[in-house]
Amino acid sequence: MAELPTSNRAVVWVGQRKLEVQQRPVHPPGDNDVLVEIIATGICGSDCHNWESDSVSRQLVLGHESSGIIKQVGKNVKDRAVGQHVAVEPGFACMECEFCVRGNPNICANLKYCGLDPTDGTLCQYFTCRSSMTVPIPDNVSWEEAGSIQPLAIAVQLARRAGLNTHQSLAILGCGPLGLLTLAVAKAYGVKKIVMFDIEESRTQFAKAYGAHSALVMPKNTDKDSLAFATDFAKEVISANDLGSGFDVTVEASGAEICAQMAVCMLKPGGTYIQAGLGKPLTPVPLFMVTAKELTIKGTVRYTPGCFQEAISLLSRNLVDLKPLVTSTYPLTKANEAFEAQHARKDIKIVIMNQE
Ligand SMILES: [Zn+2]
Ligand SMILES: [Zn+2]
Repeated sequence: MAELPTSNRAVVWVGQRKLEVQQRPVHPPGDNDVLVEIIATGICGSDCHNWESDSVSRQLVLGHESSGIIKQVGKNVKDRAVGQHVAVEPGFACMECEFCVRGNPNICANLKYCGLDPTDGTLCQYFTCRSSMTVPIPDNVSWEEAGSIQPLAIAVQLARRAGLNTHQSLAILGCGPLGLLTLAVAKAYGVKKIVMFDIEESRTQFAKAYGAHSALVMPKNTDKDSLAFATDFAKEVISANDLGSGFDVTVEASGAEICAQMAVCMLKPGGTYIQAGLGKPLTPVPLFMVTAKELTIKGTVRYTPGCFQEAISLLSRNLVDLKPLVTSTYPLTKANEAFEAQHARKDIKIVIMNQE
């Protein structure tokens, strides 16, 4: 057996808003496993949620958006090689429950997920996993971009749920990383018209520069009831963008109540609403319109088989460019600063360089 690396610095949650860089053991790969030297890891809202929590059950290694280089392979592994660049799929699905068996490991009944209490994540130097959880990346994909493959795969899953195609008009409500990644995939698919919305002008400007056909700042409702406000604004947007009776698809990517209401109001009859943002547990939406316009409402979560491969293909063929989204990188040893910055929400996407 090849020797294991001697250092494995890991970013560990030790208390509310408190991280520590600790040495953790390197797990020797089993017969069907690979040992990956992690190079880059994106951090996202759910990592930040853990960081802020006071009730994580143990000293947990965070992180789930990682890529790196295979250092060792188990003796049964035939389709991965030492030196290969790979993205790590962070979900440990059981592949036996009714949901896994029908092709939806993203909603596995027994799902364990990297960085999700109590499963250790990938914000470390070396990570061992089943070889089937790694997806090869061509060398022309930069490490910064490779640290954002997992969220791009989530946007691919969203596009599948929405059935995006060239003929559609699409509204994306929320210009955070998820909304912008959805924009990137929709552009790659050639979606005809994409209008984006946010409450912050800096974000809508970014969305415009990143390829949205139009990006609008959401007005504040001061005097109307929220349904009248949403209906009026929807009418304005539809007529200003020459959309006839409305959008084909709306994606709620912010979790805000008013966005959910607008996303329903802006749909044409027969249109599709995708809920991707995580909002309050109970959000009022005008369900009578769902009936009257015969709308389809769908959720979307994580990714399904093939989404990582498609995300990587989009990147390596330059159909999607993630570089403008990666606004900061930090060495792993400065993870505290990276999480403070993520919390301050000034960046679009932060990537941690795990070996630095
Ligand atoms: Zn994430
Ligand atoms: Zn399962």
